[in-house]
Amino acid sequence: MSDTIFGKIIRKEIPAQILFESEDVLAFKDINAQAPVHFLVIPKIAIPKVSDIQGSEHAELLGKLFDAANKIAEEMGIKESGYRVVINCGSDGGQEVPHLHLHVLGGRKLNWPPG
Ligand code: 5GP
Repeated sequence: MSDTIFGKIIRKEIPAQILFESEDVLAFKDINAQAPVHFLVIPKIAIPKVSDIQGSEHAELLGKLFDAANKIAEEMGIKESGYRVVINCGSDGGQEVPHLHLHVLGGRKLNWPPG
């Protein structure tokens, strides 16, 4: 289990607006939303970042993360309008919390390219 702010959220040591929870996956609203819909989907195991993913080991878990993201997006009413799934990796990628997480953003037209 990761010793990050997300580890604390998984262990319910700090509160979060949880949208989905399973044995392997947790999803909750981002505390600093950048769009009308902005939530995070994380594995419960501690994978620090994208570059630590091993396809042979984590493929099923990654599928579960995307299943959760899509299910919640539908529940939040952004399936038809669309949304963006972002994974920041490392310092230049803008990652602040070293626990793998999908950002799911929607509810407004998002700009491209990102900064
Ligand atoms: P990163 O920059 O690592 O890709 O994204 C980390 C995200 O976690 C940020 O969007 C930030 O707002 C969010 N975040 C950081 N601390 C907390 C927290 O304590 N609770 C929640 N719900 N989100 C957090």
